[in-house]
Amino acid sequence: MRFDVVTLFPDMINQACSHSIIARGIDSGVIEVNTFNPRDYTKDKHKKVDDTPFGGGAGMVLMCQPYFDCFDAIDKDADSEVIILSPQGEVFNQQLSMELAKKKQIVFICGHYEGFDERIKQYTKAREVSIGDYVLTGGELPALCMIDSISRNIEGFLGKMDSAHFDSFSDGLLEYPQYTKPREYCGLEVPEVLLGGNHQEIAKWRRKQQFIVTYKKRRDLFDNFKKNCNNKYDIKLLNEVLKEL
Ligand code: SAM
Repeated sequence: MRFDVVTLFPDMINQACSHSIIARGIDSGVIEVNTFNPRDYTKDKHKKVDDTPFGGGAGMVLMCQPYFDCFDAIDKDADSEVIILSPQGEVFNQQLSMELAKKKQIVFICGHYEGFDERIKQYTKAREVSIGDYVLTGGELPALCMIDSISRNIEGFLGKMDSAHFDSFSDGLLEYPQYTKPREYCGLEVPEVLLGGNHQEIAKWRRKQQFIVTYKKRRDLFDNFKKNCNNKYDIKLLNEVLKEL
């Protein structure tokens, strides 16, 4: 997977991608992250990339020319997705992350200041994506969030693929509680079932915990899962949990 990021602040992307699991994914060749700076494509002698809005108002608007030319300079795969980061876009979630993980290339276009000249969206035919209903100063953090999340869903990126399989949201539920050594700390104990080595019982406990945690923390997800659930084993466990709650 190749991530190409159009940004006025390439260091933000490159710095963040030089740590931990993302850096390992780049080193191993599972992902590639490139940056393209519209300022390098401006025809203005002062390297201007923004200007005041037509019609008046506060702030600066990103101009067409540097963005069109920068976008055109990127080699695009037939199976590429172009995403423009915007608080007005469809809201990013695990489902979209898994869908995008199947692509060969994703081009992210990061805004800044007051945002883009509307024609940049038209020219690039980009899909408008938001990371939530709040406004940030630029698209770099949203692009990084998406790169991180999408990468987790690419086969071979995480050490063991199972670590992503049971993640929260993967099948519409939140993850079960996790514990590690020691068995007891400050009087707080690990549930007995996890210590016995009975894998069937552990799997059953974990599945029930997913239902309990989702019911308590995200009723919307729980109700949706219950409505669409047609797995007999899950239905049995769901009914047990509902009686216990
Ligand atoms: N004036 C714009 C508006 O009200 O819709 C907001 C511009 S914002 C200050 C600057 C840039 O940050 C945007 O063009 C976008 O690229 C990025 N951005 C801000 N919030 C975002 C969000 N929630 N999701 C994705 N990108 C965001």
